[in-house]
Amino acid sequence: MAAFRAGALTLDGTVVAIVIGTLVFGAGGWPFAAVLLTFFVTSIALGRVRRARKASLTNIEKAGARDWTQVLANGGVAAACALLSLHGGAGLREAFAGAFAAATADTWGTEIGTATAAVPRSIVTGRRLDPGISGGVTPAGTLGEVAGAATLALVATSLHAAAFLPVLAGGIAGALIDSLLGATAQALYYCRACECYCEADPHVCGANPRLARGFSWFTNDTVNFAATLTGALVAYGVAKLLV
Ligand SMILES: [Zn+2]
Repeated sequence: MAAFRAGALTLDGTVVAIVIGTLVFGAGGWPFAAVLLTFFVTSIALGRVRRARKASLTNIEKAGARDWTQVLANGGVAAACALLSLHGGAGLREAFAGAFAAATADTWGTEIGTATAAVPRSIVTGRRLDPGISGGVTPAGTLGEVAGAATLALVATSLHAAAFLPVLAGGIAGALIDSLLGATAQALYYCRACECYCEADPHVCGANPRLARGFSWFTNDTVNFAATLTGALVAYGVAKLLV
């Protein structure tokens, strides 16, 4: 509710966040809730810090309140893992935290990466990209990703003492998949009216941009879903290996 009042979530985003939060808290109590809140609170706090600068970027549609598809793309896999963990099975608590580690790494990387003046380069081609365009990486952004994954992994040790490495690995793998898909499959448009690249059709100016790369159905939400699923699977796999 506080996030809704602060403009960080839309109304439908708030409803889905409450459903996910209830499932997570119901399945795992405070240790699970701590993992969710670490992602949620640090993401909103970092977004606030850099909001002024981000308003000047071409990709401002990403900077607004999160709607229900964004909330589900970031938290849906984790909520499913939390429910599955009720039936026992080693590694499912790590999978839950691994999904949030991927979401946290991605958010920290984006916020910290766009906070510096460094020019992002495509993780695939090495070419320069506008700040905020998916698939771009900077040294600071990559450090931010690792720091985000490590912070989440540290909190996840309250679920299971040996969770640190699996969750860290899941977070970093998820962020890597996020950048790779963001640089290749995700829809990238070119708006002729504004002479800039953007990730939404229509562009914020109201014009219909032309598809410059990727698939029109492959949105930022698709990328986030794939990244959190990767985070869960890698954390699960590494946890199984370490047992
Ligand atoms: Zn435009």
